[in-house]
Amino acid sequence: MKNIFIITLLLLFVSCHSEKEKQQPTFGIVIHGGAGTILKENMSDEMEKAYLKKLTEAITTGHAILKVGGTSQDAVEKTIHVMENSPLFNSGKGAVLTANETIALDASFMDGKTLNSGAIAGVKHVKNPISAAIKVMHNSPHVLLSGEGADQFAAEQNLETVPESYFITQRRIKALRRVQELETNKKTTRHSSDQLFYDNQRYGTVGCVALDLNGNLAAGTSTGGMTNKKWGRIGDAPIIGAGTYANNSSCGVSATGWGEFFIRSVVAHDIAALVEYKSLSVKEASKQVLQKVEDLGGDGGVVVMDAYGNVSMEFNTPGMYRAHMNSDGKLTVRIYDNE
Ligand code: ASP
Repeated sequence: MKNIFIITLLLLFVSCHSEKEKQQPTFGIVIHGGAGTILKENMSDEMEKAYLKKLTEAITTGHAILKVGGTSQDAVEKTIHVMENSPLFNSGKGAVLTANETIALDASFMDGKTLNSGAIAGVKHVKNPISAAIKVMHNSPHVLLSGEGADQFAAEQNLETVPESYFITQRRIKALRRVQELETNKKTTRHSSDQLFYDNQRYGTVGCVALDLNGNLAAGTSTGGMTNKKWGRIGDAPIIGAGTYANNSSCGVSATGWGEFFIRSVVAHDIAALVEYKSLSVKEASKQVLQKVEDLGGDGGVVVMDAYGNVSMEFNTPGMYRAHMNSDGKLTVRIYDNE
């Protein structure tokens, strides 16, 4: 009898303890800088170092905000700024060009506590499109603004604006010319190096998911879209539920990849739905949804974090620029598959 009493007490202690552990506030941040045919053999040491350095700078910026009790919104915004301001990524400065040699930037943001969200598409003057998306969420009755109107709204919100030329780099001009050449000659068989180059020009978006000490998730994505895009094409990045989603009761998601397939598969919301309704882990949910994308013929990747700080960085391309930092400050920065 005495033994049973002691065992019951012990069990009670263990269950209270693990319950307490679960509830202990935690925070974390995960980012991507685009997925694609990123192969070590095609990357110079110098470029590799530059990417690793910038990813580290971006994620530590957000981590520092979260560590002192800042909001997940602030962490996502400031982290994405670092990548938008770097010509390495296809977002903000250094974004890919449209068929008319112009810039058309897309971005979105979602708050996991309120399910409020904001997005902009096809802007060419706001320096940091992610901030414009956040302003749409807070200061307009809308979710998605596009084109000139979106740029005008950003200016009215006193966000920094720049001439279109600020975003345009030589690297992207060259890439556009080559893609256009390859598209014109599409009937002739492409060499595999041409094909590789062509495929790679489609990608390079940046994104971030953060969990703050109050248990609030937020997700944001920012991109120039696809090289040589025409007719005002808009991808998944500014589409809530496709490229970006956040809900405290499931997870936050930011996607990168072939946008048309990510829209059709409603990737970000589908992952969150599997986590919420089927209690799948973020890793399992990401795998299942990326398989759906692959079955349709698309490719790309996602970064996902749930309300306990569990994280997934899944992709079905040879590489994805990515990084994760947890509340202990443990940093993971990776580029290729199987690292
Ligand atoms: N998903 C983006 C788009 O389709 C491209 C990318 O992620 O790089 O616009």
